[in-house]
Formats: sequence, C-alpha cells, structure tokens
Amino acid sequence: MRSLPRCILALVVLLFPVGAPISMQRRALEDRPRLVVLLVIDQFRQEYLLRFHPFFNDRGFRRLLTSGAVFSQCHYEQAPTVTAPGHATLSTGATPSAHGIIANEWYDRETGEIVTSVSDLSQRVVGAASGRASSPHRLIGTTLGDELRLSTNFRSKVIALSYKDRSAILLGGKLANVALWFDESSGSFITSDYYADTLPEWVARFNATRPADRYFGARWEKAFAKEAYALAASDDRLEETPLPGGGRTFPHHLTGGLAQPGPAFYTAFTFTPFANEVLLELAKRAIEGEQLGRDESPDLLAISLSTNDLAGHFFGPYSQEVTDLTLRTDQIVASLLAYLDSRFGSTYVFALTADHGVAPIPEEAARAKLSGRRISPAAVRQAIEEALSARFGEGPWIEPKALPLLSNGFVYLNRETIGRKQLDPADVERAAGEAALRVPGLARYYTRTHLLAGHLEGDLVGRRVARGFHPTRSPDVILIPEPFAFISGGQTGTTHGSPYSYDAHVPLILFGHGIAPGIFPSACTPADLAPTLAAVLRIESPANATGRVLQEALSPPSPALPIPQRSAMSSR
Ligand SMILES: [Zn+2]
Repeated sequence: MRSLPRCILALVVLLFPVGAPISMQRRALEDRPRLVVLLVIDQFRQEYLLRFHPFFNDRGFRRLLTSGAVFSQCHYEQAPTVTAPGHATLSTGATPSAHGIIANEWYDRETGEIVTSVSDLSQRVVGAASGRASSPHRLIGTTLGDELRLSTNFRSKVIALSYKDRSAILLGGKLANVALWFDESSGSFITSDYYADTLPEWVARFNATRPADRYFGARWEKAFAKEAYALAASDDRLEETPLPGGGRTFPHHLTGGLAQPGPAFYTAFTFTPFANEVLLELAKRAIEGEQLGRDESPDLLAISLSTNDLAGHFFGPYSQEVTDLTLRTDQIVASLLAYLDSRFGSTYVFALTADHGVAPIPEEAARAKLSGRRISPAAVRQAIEEALSARFGEGPWIEPKALPLLSNGFVYLNRETIGRKQLDPADVERAAGEAALRVPGLARYYTRTHLLAGHLEGDLVGRRVARGFHPTRSPDVILIPEPFAFISGGQTGTTHGSPYSYDAHVPLILFGHGIAPGIFPSACTPADLAPTLAAVLRIESPANATGRVLQEALSPPSPALPIPQRSAMSSR
C-alpha cells in the first residue's frame, strides 16, 4: 500500500527534480569558455597544412592538428570565393544568398554606383584625418558576436582586428564593441564612428608607439631550412608582381621606395610578415586593454591576417614568399597560443580557418600543362557588346559604371537599354551569356532569371553559384571560367574567386575548452563554424545561419536542455 505513493513520488522527482534544472543550466553556463579567439587567415588553402607540415614547429599549426578537432573537408559552398563573403559566412553561418555580402564590391542599382561590402557614406573614420568610412550596414542578419552580446545584456565583449576594414567589420558584426583596421596613409589602426567617437585608449596608445615604423628599412629574408623552399618554384619569375619598392626576389627590402615612413611604405609593409607580427601584438593589447576573458560573460576576439592574401596575390601559392610567410604564420599561431595558455589556461576556445584559397599563377599552371589563362575583361566586354548589338541593336548593353566588375565575372546589364527597346531581360541575359562563352577560358554562365526561379543546377558549380546569388545585389549574368583560368586585366600575380577546390577548400580547426580532438573528414562548410561556436557558448545561432553544429567536435556532447520547472510550466 505504501509503495505506490513512493513510486509516484520517485517518478515526480525524476521528471521534475527540484532545483535541478537551474543548477544544470548554471553548470552548463559555468562550463562555457571564457574567451573565443577566431583566427582567420586571409587566403589560406587547407593543403598548406599538409604541404608545409614537416617544417612546422610543435607549438603552432601542428599543435592544432594533433590536439584540435580538425575538419579536413571544409569547402565554401558558395561563389565567388573572396574576402568579404567569406568573412561574412564565417561570422553569420549563412551563405551570401542570405547574408547579402555577395562580393567585395558590387553595383548598387539604387544609387547607380559601385559600393564595397562595408562602405557607408553616413559614417566617419575615427583615428585618422581621412579615409574610407565604413560599417556593417549591408550585412543582413546577425553574427556570432551579435548573438553573444545579446545573450549577456551586452556584458560580453566582441573585438575584431584586421588590416582590411571589410574583414574586421564583417567578422565582428553589428553589435561589436569595436572593429579595427589599418590606415595606409597614416600607419595607424583606425575604426568608424559607427562603433565609437574615439579610439579605445589601448589602441591610441598602441598607435603612439608607431608599430609599423619599427620595420622601416627591415629586410624580409628566408628564415627556414632550405628544404622547405625546395617545395616552391624559383624565386625569380617574371609573372610575380614585385613588392612596392621591394622587388620580386628575396631579400625584400622594406621602404616602399621612401626615405622615411609614409603611405607607400605602409602599403608595402602590409605585404610583409612583419604586419602579422604587429597584428598579433595588437591582439594582445586588445585582450589586456579590454580585460577579455576575465569574467563569467564570455568574450570574442576575431583576428584576420590580411598579409597572407596580399603577398599570395603577388607571388602565388607555389612561391618562395608564400612558403616563408606560411612558416612564419605558424610561429604567429604558436606565439598566440602560448600567450593564451599563460593567461587563460584551459578556459579558452581557439578556431582557425580562412576566407578562401587561391589559384596558381596562370602562366605557372599553363607551363604545368593545366588550363591556366588570363581572360581579358576587355575581350569579355567586346564579345557581349558586339553580339547584343548585332541581335538587338545599339547598346551600351553592359551598365557602363559596372564595367570594372567584369573581372569578377559579374555582368550588370544596362536596364535602360533593355527597357527602351522593350526586350525581355531573360532573352538579353541569355544572349550575353552565350556571347561570353565564345571567349576562350570561360566555361559557363548563369542568368539572374534562371537563378531567381530557383533552378539549382545539379552539380557543384551551379549549387555554389546559387548560394552566392542575392536577388537585389547580384548581377544579371554570372560568368564562370574553367579551372585555373580567371578574368583579369593584370599581367602578373594571381587571384581567387572560383567555385573550384583550390579556392574553396580551407582549414577549419577548433581547439581548447570542451573540444574533442580528432580528424573529421565529414562534409563541412565554413558556415558550420558560427553555429558550432554558438553551441559551445550556449547562445542562439546567428539569425540566418544554415550551417550545422559540428557535434563531432564537442566533448562531452552538449548537455540536454534543462527540463522546465513545474512551477514555471503551470504559471504560463
Ligand atoms: Zn584576395
């Protein structure tokens, strides 16, 4: 008789353990990392981690590869694979079709001007007399940092640092405390009055040390075993772009061609590994100046190393310079990890990834019997204008102000001409695409009409183009070159932007508090990073996020959501 009530009581306690939900929740929150550090290397192929592995030290990339959760098959499922969309995808967990950052620049139909992903005429720069004003106003939705700020009533801090404004701004998001980037006219780190009217004091103090000036006259020399450089092509190749004032071969003498520090020197400086060292120093100042990771509200520090991209464009992925820079980046990672260990022990999470890879220099690819080729934007323009004029009458058929975007494969048609002649835009788009395909090296075209109708092309290229397409911002025709070819007006160096693996395959490694080490070859995209870090931080995913939580990396698996207390249930 007495056993029944006891049984019911036990069941009730099991289902609704008094006080347990709150303590479980508290434990889950207490178990969060104090600090998340996101390191994005601008232009870094996943294969660099393999190719240069024998020459890494044990405390940098190799430590991440052995003690982190390594997602070895992380590909951008979007095109173009360039800086602004890549960074926006990392912070939002979304593709450009949702976060709206379709490229570094696009043609704004409303104003009839080319805009950048972050340009904002309503803002002023802070920390320099002049400069491009910018903000995240074109980013649609929220970022990981935004959700972190919302979740703690803004007690969590979010700081983003880079040499490029778009990288810092798009990584940080709309609610970041500050995003900082480098002003090449003054050699200082600056921000926008979108964030604050004055520079944080620790930034002003850092600028006062003239951090870049210390490297005036420095020589960038090869610093590693000669076997490492044997993996690269010869140092002196005509198709490399010389550094401003610093030549095409080692040692690169860093003056920018000036007698004392000035704008040309600051530009040249951003192409050298010394710039990564300065950004590392700024990251440490940020941690100390903002007291990041010091209280129970977790903080986010996002760092984007721009130098790897700048030098990579000039010298290419198989150059002596990229070899040296990658091994020096390994040292930067080692130094950052050692600093985080000493300051935070095991209470931080570190994430390493990249915004895109890079193509080989086309002449180098052609010599290797690949289809490397530079496609002249003038040839693309001529093919389209001639074909459309022959079929529909006099143009101009391409929007004149949007002509520079042809090098991205972006064809914005002149809607004025189409309207005046009362043509069906779909016919003109198709005719433009067909005309462009007659230019050697171009492989495919996708039209706005086709993409708007939601016809996802069955293969990888079509899928990636569709996820990079935004209805009001994307062009009328998107041109895709063959692998190893790209549209470029330049005669030297290389670039990225294609849907192919050399541009799309990037590292993604999580390391630190609560992360299970292992190599995970499961399918993964950079859009998975933000939802995964949101799960680690026990916060909401960014608004547009479509990526999946990389559960393989979470150790132990995230605790189940606490069962609501009975009183809370009955008082609804
Ligand atoms: Zn680039």
